[in-house]
Amino acid sequence: MDQKTTMAIEERNRHLEQADRRLIWHPFTQMKQWEATTPLIIEEGRGEFLKDIYGRWYLDGVSSLWVNIHGHRKKEIDQALKEQIDRLSHSTLLGLGNVPSIELAERLLSIVPEGLTKVFYSDNGSTSVEIALKMAFQYWKNRGIEGREAFVCLNHAYHGDTLGAVSVGGIELFHEVYRPLLFRTFRAPSPYCYRCELGLDRQSCSMACLERLEEILKEHHEEIAALIIEPLVQGAGGMIVHPEGYLRAVRELTRKYDVLMIADEVAVGFGRTGRMFACEHEEVVPDFLCLSKGITGGYLPLAVTITTDEVYSAFLAEYRELKTFFHGHSYTGNPLACAAAVASLELFKKENTLEGVRKKAGILQSWLKEVSGLSHVGDARGIGLIAGVELVKEKDKKEPYPFHEQIGYRVCYRARERGLIIRPLGDVIVIMPPLSISEENLQRMLEIIRDSIRDVTEE
Ligand SMILES: *Cc1c(COP(=O)(O)O)cnc(C)c1O
Repeated sequence: MDQKTTMAIEERNRHLEQADRRLIWHPFTQMKQWEATTPLIIEEGRGEFLKDIYGRWYLDGVSSLWVNIHGHRKKEIDQALKEQIDRLSHSTLLGLGNVPSIELAERLLSIVPEGLTKVFYSDNGSTSVEIALKMAFQYWKNRGIEGREAFVCLNHAYHGDTLGAVSVGGIELFHEVYRPLLFRTFRAPSPYCYRCELGLDRQSCSMACLERLEEILKEHHEEIAALIIEPLVQGAGGMIVHPEGYLRAVRELTRKYDVLMIADEVAVGFGRTGRMFACEHEEVVPDFLCLSKGITGGYLPLAVTITTDEVYSAFLAEYRELKTFFHGHSYTGNPLACAAAVASLELFKKENTLEGVRKKAGILQSWLKEVSGLSHVGDARGIGLIAGVELVKEKDKKEPYPFHEQIGYRVCYRARERGLIIRPLGDVIVIMPPLSISEENLQRMLEIIRDSIRDVTEE
């Protein structure tokens, strides 16, 4: 490159960095802090790597926030999108059908737990949750049963950022300020064994947290429309992995007390846990299954709320009876997104994606064992290609680092200098690479994380 071109690139890059700071309000970001640093701006992707505007490559350790499954610029998905663009980019599902939305519904219904039969489209995880909440609420009304107006959720839960989803959220830091705007919920303990709310020990507790949940259901089931849960792993709450048998027991309790169950698999769906859906691990069939993030392989925003004939049929009536589900979005069932999702599901078969995840999960598990020995790692947990490493100031007392030290953020920053993009959830370092990551790059990523943790916590 001649000097003139180099200078033009430098100038463009500086412009982009300034314009980003001047014009864009980033999600979940203290913008004062952002404005004081140089933003990392991504320009290109390939496989499990992202390239910034200076041509530096980074491992995408968070799958571009859970969504990427088969890597960036995956040939088959690129091709499916190009073909779909030449036919139709968008047409509404209000009053019309479109071909890719039908093809995708058929495929989804052939792989979700048996008994889930109706697909309602939307565009992101939060809306898929809103839809499940509204459907559950209206289900009881439509059946002429009054009083079922509250929901049960877990502490540390995360179901999205729209107000309904925030109502059933349980992360104080994100949700507390909005409390006056939110509807009524009952909160059950999170099965967060490392920091048990009931002060018990997993070896001897017999999951006493379930008893607390049962008390709520026993006393209030006639006021409750549904229970909502992230199956197996509470993601944004800190990659809290639930003990075996917990999900199945929750399902049994909802059946016993005749309360609907919403499984929010927005994060854990599409192979993350080593099975296509987390509910499969415990043979659970929920009344609603919410899916988004990985659904299009990380290409386009799309979500579905899948429910049963039982729920669906409660909405069937003469128009004048007002039992219609009055809900929909402009881009509902977008053909491009659906075509990408169909191509992604094809790849699961063609590339044996789930088998690959289970193999790499083994590597991740041994690494978790190894790092749990580090002097500031309180807990290292994971399942499939999901993991969280919780850092603590004092290991014996499980004493957290002071909030303002931003220890997680500092570890992630150090990892970035070594060519890996990861994000913290408070003091928990989260790991969720694209499912297609090579074993070699997974190992590399884990080494970088271990070294970065040591650098920051043992310096
Ligand atoms: C990310 C997430 C959501 C929200 O999805 P968005 O697409 O960000 O709106 C909902 N539930 C769970 C479990 C999630 O991880």
